[in-house]
Amino acid sequence: MTTPTTASFTVPAQQDSLAHGESSGCRAVPLHHHASWSAEPPAWGLGTMLAHVGTATDPATGAITTPIHLSTAFGHPGLRESTGYDYTRTASPTRDVLQDALARLDAGTAAFALSSGMAAVQLAVETLAPYGGRVVALEDLYGGTYRYLQVLAEEGAYDVDFVIGEEGLRGALKNPASLVMIETPTNPMMAEIDIERVAGWAHAAGALLVVDNTFYTPVVCRPLERGADVVVYSATKYLGGHNDVMAGAVVVADPELGERLMYRLNTTGATLGPFDCFLLLRGLKTLSLRMKRHEANALLVAEFLEASEHVSRVLYPGRSGMVSFDPADDVDIAVFLETVRVFTFAESLGGVESLVTCPSVQTHADVPPATRAAYGLTDRLLRLSVGIEDAEDLVADLRQALEAAATSGSD
Ligand code: PLP
Repeated sequence: MTTPTTASFTVPAQQDSLAHGESSGCRAVPLHHHASWSAEPPAWGLGTMLAHVGTATDPATGAITTPIHLSTAFGHPGLRESTGYDYTRTASPTRDVLQDALARLDAGTAAFALSSGMAAVQLAVETLAPYGGRVVALEDLYGGTYRYLQVLAEEGAYDVDFVIGEEGLRGALKNPASLVMIETPTNPMMAEIDIERVAGWAHAAGALLVVDNTFYTPVVCRPLERGADVVVYSATKYLGGHNDVMAGAVVVADPELGERLMYRLNTTGATLGPFDCFLLLRGLKTLSLRMKRHEANALLVAEFLEASEHVSRVLYPGRSGMVSFDPADDVDIAVFLETVRVFTFAESLGGVESLVTCPSVQTHADVPPATRAAYGLTDRLLRLSVGIEDAEDLVADLRQALEAAATSGSD
């Protein structure tokens, strides 16, 4: 008969006893679980780093992919002793591997994996802006983020100033603020915002700059290296990449911010489950490859749309895979959305399959029409998440749908 053991995996030597403990309060993300990554990150390119995300992290077995640790509780070797894991809300071996990767990819010191992108936005805002503080945010944000900030403002939790573009940010940040929230490119108008410039204004105003980097990912842009304090993601999108996992992430450079976020996340609990951590780790491995293909396809799609007589405006920043356009007046957008075949009419983005969204009735329906109109978002604007299919098929699909929709009303 074998004697049961309380801990079946190797305890990393440098780990403090009870470091993860509920009772021990907060801690930043450990960076010690990668057998293949030394304490100092190797000088690998991003593609190599991504392909090796979560590789050989389990010294006990040498498993190439990251094990999914489902246990919510972890046995203690003795009183006031810990394997490093006590309770999964506080820390999970599978989540640690993911968080480690997320921190490295954005050159941060700590990263947190959450149950959705909105949970990530909420964690960043409500932990880092004191109640009653002033939040300056772009209007041209994901509609759910706009709605969330609007609700907080209506409830009196924060004094929220929504502004349009860099000029709006510059004006608003002449006065003190606690936190600035931007997306670049903006969503869905695809305007690039200069992170370094905005970080300068934000810091002069005493504010932390939060950048939602969902559309660009660390493959295209690493906001912390440009002066941002916090990066948030809907990892449901490009990071996961397969429309099969809902997740969010927060990454910071300053360990003190990491400690505060860790404490709040453990206290409030919207952490990502182990299965979803695994799916996200698997998705990340191909992120570099996917982003190259998304971008190459999006360039061709944008060129086609620019040249089409059935399109009146194309918005594409030249990077990543998101393209917005206004169909010409003769196009019936309902017919267009019913006629596409390679694209699917759905409200998300960043997956390998191409999707088309109508923001005014989907993602941005809760932004008041006058606000949408003020920053140029028309009711007819369509947003494409260009996937990794063959570009010719994407272009052919858009051509046939535009032609069908443009002629559908005529005899
Ligand atoms: N940020 C951006 C840019 C988004 O597009 C979304 C969702 O569409 C979110 C945040 C919210 O993420 P989630 O849907 O994962 O909660």
